[in-house]
Amino acid sequence: MQLYNKLSAKEREALLEEAGEDRLTLSFYAYAKIGNPELFRNHLFIAWDQMDVLGRIYVAHEGINAQLSVPAKRFNEFKEFIDNIYFLENVRLNIAIEHDIKSFLKLKVKVRKKIVADGLNDETFDVTNKGVHVDAAKFNELIRDPNTVLVDMRNHYESEIGHFQGAITPDVDTFRDSLPIIEEDLKDYKEDKNLVMYCTGGIRCEKASAYYKHRGFKNVFQLEGGIIEYTRQVEKQKLENKFIGKNFVFDHRRAERITEDVIAQCHQCGKACDTHVNCANEACHLLFIQCEKCAQKMNNCCSDNCKEIAALPYEKQKELRKGKGASNKIFKKGRSQVLKFKQ
Ligand SMILES: [Zn+2]
Ligand SMILES: [Zn+2]
Repeated sequence: MQLYNKLSAKEREALLEEAGEDRLTLSFYAYAKIGNPELFRNHLFIAWDQMDVLGRIYVAHEGINAQLSVPAKRFNEFKEFIDNIYFLENVRLNIAIEHDIKSFLKLKVKVRKKIVADGLNDETFDVTNKGVHVDAAKFNELIRDPNTVLVDMRNHYESEIGHFQGAITPDVDTFRDSLPIIEEDLKDYKEDKNLVMYCTGGIRCEKASAYYKHRGFKNVFQLEGGIIEYTRQVEKQKLENKFIGKNFVFDHRRAERITEDVIAQCHQCGKACDTHVNCANEACHLLFIQCEKCAQKMNNCCSDNCKEIAALPYEKQKELRKGKGASNKIFKKGRSQVLKFKQ
């Protein structure tokens, strides 16, 4: 039985273009006790591969975190399948506002130690003692309260292009790093302020809110379903939208535009810009913000050095990369000395 991808991203891209069918980009997560993640992983892969579902899914003893692209016409079949898994019945599906048939080009279901790398030892605190979940209306009300501290639980490259007005946006590379930093920053507010947190789809706050309660914060709230669900509710209920800019997402689209405000700048020339790209030198692949002008001038690269390498024949590039490890490991989470406006 086939348990892994057979098609390359290029082959898949061609197939998707040829089919030209509508696809939905969606995500969901659930914390649950999974006895045999490997077995569960295979079960998902077999079913979803047959349904032509693509995406990146993490399965662990603690639950599942899934980002997917589902053929629109097979959505009901997909929904029925997950509703038949007891801990996923009626799980909230965060459905993207902007759709791209090529948001994912492979189906990757991976078994991990955790579904989000939080660096926490879950044995040391009660992960089920979470913060109060609030919807968009209640969230707006809370953040108007001067007694509230609003914290963005995402990383610097996410909040850089879009965030809630008035939020603290920690300059951190990972979720793991952010937990102690935020705690230190807010330690004087433990007793009397409202700690309100948000992230992309809600999953990071699930763990963070329980952790901060454990660390002595008395009034902890989290935005239910994150920015994705907030945006949906704001549109549906015609509420005031307190988010500005773009919502960073973890698929090929990279971001969803929420408002027309451009709050970031090109990392090379400093001009207003909020388009993330990856350096065209495969061995570098640095994630950074680049305007169209700089993209042209630099051949989509982050530096002159990368521009030189990217211009070499592919075989030559491969030779240079030998022994240097996978590009993933060199991925610098959006910071580099070569970027004049982001270091
Ligand atoms: Zn530029
Ligand atoms: Zn580069």
